[in-house]
Amino acid sequence: MQIIDGKKIASEIKLEIANEVREIISKGQRAPCLAAILAGNDPASETYVNSKAKDCSEVGFTSKIYRFDEQVTENELINKIKEINADDNIDGLIVQLPLPEHISESNILLAVDYKKDVDGFHPQNAGRLMLGLPTYVSATPCGIVELFARYNIETSGKNCVVIGRSNIVGRPVANLLSQRTTPGDCTVTICHSRTKKLKEICANADIIIAALGVAEFLQADMVKDGAVVIDVGITRTKKQNGKYKLTGDVKFDEVAPKCSYITPVPGGVGPMTRIALLKNTLKAAKKEIYK
Ligand code: NAD
Repeated sequence: MQIIDGKKIASEIKLEIANEVREIISKGQRAPCLAAILAGNDPASETYVNSKAKDCSEVGFTSKIYRFDEQVTENELINKIKEINADDNIDGLIVQLPLPEHISESNILLAVDYKKDVDGFHPQNAGRLMLGLPTYVSATPCGIVELFARYNIETSGKNCVVIGRSNIVGRPVANLLSQRTTPGDCTVTICHSRTKKLKEICANADIIIAALGVAEFLQADMVKDGAVVIDVGITRTKKQNGKYKLTGDVKFDEVAPKCSYITPVPGGVGPMTRIALLKNTLKAAKKEIYK
């Protein structure tokens, strides 16, 4: 059994990106720039946005955070998005979710210029992913596929079960792994809260991607010997010392001995998700997807 070290791969990719940024700057061009919009006072969102800004500075990108209070109007946000869309010095724009309840998430995400949509949430980019065209692949699916590639894990012809059908994880990763690509060429089954006989379906899988957000859901009797298990789930529980403990969707101690490869939580998919945003921002700066 091999533990997939997402943290190590993520630091390797960070160095690769930092080298590219140095090259870009040595040619006299400006550094790639990511803008983030943060509305409201959600502490988790504040942490996420700050870590994204930190990641940017570590690879030599510049970043800007636009903060709005909980009472911000949809129009105010859309005006700021339009301003950023028109700013040639900004390559990528992300809107941190969730937004305050009175704001329509879809109106806001649609307002982002798809050429700057480095989260890959705009229908243009999600649609291109569906068609197998070059696009900004959303962060977690992008990170998972990169792990398969970097560990040379064979996916062709394998039975892959994805548990979870969200627009940001389950469905895009299922789509990517079913495409005629490497990694890819899997026979994919998507399972969700209404799936029957989920245990049997999982027990036949060569690859299981657990993305449902239920702590330690996947247990040893649901996993066949030699399977590859990718644990996307993150459940936060507050410890007595006030710090948070992160638990994945996989009962790691009992499942790991049966696997050929498994990702831990933390240190598996999480760091790769953060890297994907940097990769997409670099693509935007280089105008790799849209000229
Ligand atoms: P979501 O709540 O949008 O979707 C969860 C999906 O799981 C739904 O499609 C639902 O049908 C399915 N589901 C729920 N209970 C189920 C059950 N008992 N059996 C089968 N299917 C069930 O969640 P999401 O945004 O896709 O995130 C999933 C998990 O991944 C969460 O824990 C989230 O925190 C985590 N996550 C981690 C990263 C990362 O970087 N590691 C990134 C994104 C999300």
